[in-house]
Amino acid sequence: MYEAKWYKKLSNGKVECLLCPHHCVILLGKISICKARKNTNGTLYAINYGECVSLAMDPIEKKPLYHFHPGALILSVAPNSCNFDCPFCQNAEISQSKTYTQYISPEELVDLAIKKKSLGIAYTYTEPLTWYEYLIDAGKLAHKQGIKNILVTNGMIDEKPLLELLPYMDAANIDLKSMDEGFYKKVVHGDLKTVLNTIKISRQHIWIELTNLIIPGYNDSKELISKLIDFVAKLGVNTPLHFSRYFPHYKFTVPPTPVETLKFAWELAKEKLNYVYVGNVWLEGASDTYCPECSNLLVDRSYFYANPSGIEDKKCKKCGRKVDFIL
Ligand code: SF4
Repeated sequence: MYEAKWYKKLSNGKVECLLCPHHCVILLGKISICKARKNTNGTLYAINYGECVSLAMDPIEKKPLYHFHPGALILSVAPNSCNFDCPFCQNAEISQSKTYTQYISPEELVDLAIKKKSLGIAYTYTEPLTWYEYLIDAGKLAHKQGIKNILVTNGMIDEKPLLELLPYMDAANIDLKSMDEGFYKKVVHGDLKTVLNTIKISRQHIWIELTNLIIPGYNDSKELISKLIDFVAKLGVNTPLHFSRYFPHYKFTVPPTPVETLKFAWELAKEKLNYVYVGNVWLEGASDTYCPECSNLLVDRSYFYANPSGIEDKKCKKCGRKVDFIL
């Protein structure tokens, strides 16, 4: 049993979790809404510690991380928990319902990554922030062994726990689902301000890329897409932005995002940002990286295969501009 970090004891055996802005008050014997924590006799335990619902070797491009060790393979793991409730969740079978898991200790996880010659460990597929204590333990151990840690996350975490976690992480893909506070509150049961804060703080400490899943009728207006692009531009024009195509899944029956919408968002974002990509659909050139200085093809991508043939000594082969990649 692993006692949770970031909580406080209340009266009558109740506890309040302080990990994410939900600040769940959990009664004696009850489990939190994210299914990751349980109040046993007035102590909060991380009941999902080390319990893996999924484990695979993935190309890092699948996260997606396009500018962090392109072409590398990474051991990818997930907990059976999430602190959002997205009705369109593409991984609902393992994020929203309780299912079979297997305990893998931090030592076993790191050993496996080394054995598989993995770049490191990606905590992904569901919501790894609900695995907080495990992330810190496995993350520390991975760093000791010289391998990387990567988060693929919704960014829903309070600032203090985030700052404690970031030294053990190296890169993250953070979902920015919409710039509409109402969408976060009503549709996914999250908090936009927190996510924006996580993005801003993370960018100061680790490599980040952002993903925006465009859903017809929910976050696909020109106004919202422009607002999102402006936010990313303010962070830094070299921050990679991935637009992703939505497909109906879980509780959502809205038809898939029209390719024209994705193309529109891509073209609009390219006016202000250096690295914009479109995923979950084939669009000529939308997954390749070009040099912002001379337009030379730096990385040619085909599905999850990346060929960084335009880069030499961390510079563009053609014009010598230093590339915005972690290699
Ligand atoms: S991490 Fe889980 S238990 Fe803690 S506040 Fe968030 S949803 Fe509640």
